[in-house]
Amino acid sequence: MPYQANISQVVATDVLVVGGGSAGATAAIAAARQGAKTLLVERYGFLGGISTQVLDTFYGFYTPGTQARKVIGGIPDDIVAALADQGKVIYRPNTYGAGQGITYDPQTLKIIWERLAQRAGVRLLYHSFVMDVLTAGERITGVIAATKAGLLQINAKTIIDASGDADVAAAAGVPFEFAGEQVQSLTTTFHLINVDVERAAKVSKNELHERMAEAISSGRYDLPRREGSVHINPLPGVMVTNMTRVGNIDATDPFQLTQAEIEGRRQAQEYARFLVDWVPGYEHADMGALSHQIGVRESRRIFGDYRLTKADVLAGRKFEDAIAQCGAPIEDHHSGSDTKWQYLPDGATYDIPFRALLPQKVDGLLVVGRCLSADHDAHASVRSMGQCMAMGQAAGTAAALSLETQSLPREVNISDLQTRLRDLGAVLD
Ligand SMILES: Cc1cc2nc3c(=O)[nH]c(=O)nc-3n(C[C@H](O)[C@H](O)[C@H](O)COP(=O)(O)OP(=O)(O)OC[C@H]3O[C@@H](n4cnc5c(N)ncnc54)[C@H](O)[C@@H]3O)c2cc1C
Repeated sequence: MPYQANISQVVATDVLVVGGGSAGATAAIAAARQGAKTLLVERYGFLGGISTQVLDTFYGFYTPGTQARKVIGGIPDDIVAALADQGKVIYRPNTYGAGQGITYDPQTLKIIWERLAQRAGVRLLYHSFVMDVLTAGERITGVIAATKAGLLQINAKTIIDASGDADVAAAAGVPFEFAGEQVQSLTTTFHLINVDVERAAKVSKNELHERMAEAISSGRYDLPRREGSVHINPLPGVMVTNMTRVGNIDATDPFQLTQAEIEGRRQAQEYARFLVDWVPGYEHADMGALSHQIGVRESRRIFGDYRLTKADVLAGRKFEDAIAQCGAPIEDHHSGSDTKWQYLPDGATYDIPFRALLPQKVDGLLVVGRCLSADHDAHASVRSMGQCMAMGQAAGTAAALSLETQSLPREVNISDLQTRLRDLGAVLD
């Protein structure tokens, strides 16, 4: 390692979680609650990842279709209960789209993630970017993080890659492919404040899209995505959007990502102007907040012991090593003006197999959330935050179990893991 001499500090832990998003924060809470000495490293100064940087609605907890069935449980329920305690959550029933959503205030959620992590005993380390790994043979043994104090070496018995972009897995030599031409577009979200919510909420999706088409025809607006949504939030006078679209970006290329940030904000201002000028209820509105960063849906796709496929999703396939379920449709925000949806049979779910969290070629490593092993279409279904939390819960539990049994994560007894998950409240069947 060329920079060994520049390492300013070395620390050690049992379980190291890289990335504090829905998947990573839940993984750390699960591992720590089960007694593992757990450290979570996050590049920003707060937890939540996309759940607090970009969004305000958990999908994936319920199946879409004629009857909403709850398929996520355990720590994710604790998060929602803590939001409800503070009056900062609303349920938005939906038979279409990704099903019933759970909409929250993201600022409150930042504090809740942190509170649950600290109560569980997770040691948090913010403002630290993991840039490389340490290995011994096929086993990952630690990471190097860049911090203001210099390079920090963190040694760990088990590492959970929850970085979204699979930064750790890629650095450790796990095979992966770039999303390439199929890559899902990126979105900068924004909040509008001072909205007459009662009137704005009465505007149907179709009406919104009709007005958008008229605005585009006027030639005075540059709106690349001819659809998108605006919805209510627990905060008064606030409407939240998912409208902008920046296509064909490799989010692991910092120059491309920089351009995407700039373009996303430019579009956000344009869509806000459209809403104020054309849609009832927004006459006195202003843009109150932009997402902390542009939302990345897809980047590196790693290869694990199993790769979840489109056929698995659409057939509602079941696996013996199930660690969670998903009923969300394939939701493809390809570049272009529309979004493609493909549904499972009404009410059906497929299983997420534990093997999709086990990367090929490297031991001592688990991947969760957006990093799991799946093809483009399966990824476009399984990436909802409900499932990311469920994967985190499973990986944190597997890490704790592997420590107790002094085995590698891939050697964990599946039926013991499933029993633990059910005890935690996970919904496996
Ligand atoms: C625009 C958009 C809209 C979406 N809409 C919805 C929706 O409405 N509902 C829903 O349920 N899902 C939605 N999704 C999908 C869902 O939000 C994501 O798939 C999910 O949040 C991913 O969670 P994660 O924990 O895997 O990754 P992330 O939430 O991205 O977390 C990764 C974390 O790792 C940190 N990190 C990254 N690299 C490093 C590093 N090298 N070192 C240290 N830290 C690092 C990041 O800062 C971040 O905190 C949407 C996604 C996008 C992009």
